[in-house]
Amino acid sequence: MNDGIARGTLNPLMIQSEQQRRAYLDALGIDVWLPRDQADPPVDDSQPEQAPALPDSPDWGQLEKAVSSCTQCALHQSRTQTVFGVGNRNADWLIVGEAPGAEEDRRGEPFVGRAGKLLDEMLKALSLDRQTVFIANILKCRPPNNRDPKQDEADACRSHLNRQIALIQPKIILAVGRIAAQQLLGRDDPVGRLRGTVHRLDEIPVVVTYHPAYLLRSPSQKAKSWRDLCLAAAASGTHVR
Ligand code: SF4
Repeated sequence: MNDGIARGTLNPLMIQSEQQRRAYLDALGIDVWLPRDQADPPVDDSQPEQAPALPDSPDWGQLEKAVSSCTQCALHQSRTQTVFGVGNRNADWLIVGEAPGAEEDRRGEPFVGRAGKLLDEMLKALSLDRQTVFIANILKCRPPNNRDPKQDEADACRSHLNRQIALIQPKIILAVGRIAAQQLLGRDDPVGRLRGTVHRLDEIPVVVTYHPAYLLRSPSQKAKSWRDLCLAAAASGTHVR
């Protein structure tokens, strides 16, 4: 059939662009030689740059950076910011709570609001404050609608907390509330059963007490909480005046 195009020639109408032309020639197995300045720009086929791996034992700066850019669980999608923890990095007391709430997520600090104020009061009763203790959470990002942390989220975040513990080397860990206690100790028991005992986490004494948010709802439990604080003080050698 004569379609007006000699076999092996190019129909200029079919060639919409130089790119198409070259693709066509390429398909025919015809090498196209171009002056250097018309050749395709060099393609960088090296592997995409990887984020530098976190060292096995990151220092505070490396850990802070790793947490602030962490995407190890789905909570990174909904957080305003990570809540790393605050206080004295050589503290004798490490206070561990559950997870940031709305206000903590907004301010980037753990235990703010009414519950935070009550925690401050509890610390004051021990002649401690936010500058002398370190306060952190099981999770560094806020779970939506303040729901309980999921186990996979707690697992994903545990390395951050473990590294904080290793860096601080506290004399006592005060687990505040059910989630913190259960996650730290790997137990399912309620706070009522976990408090009143000095547990151990890698030889570090751990004492469990009620969450201040619970104490605000149940002020009658404050006396028990004070007993927990005195137990923690005794376990850490803190003198209570
Ligand atoms: Fe990473 Fe922890 Fe935040 Fe999850 S909650 S994204 S593990 S910092």
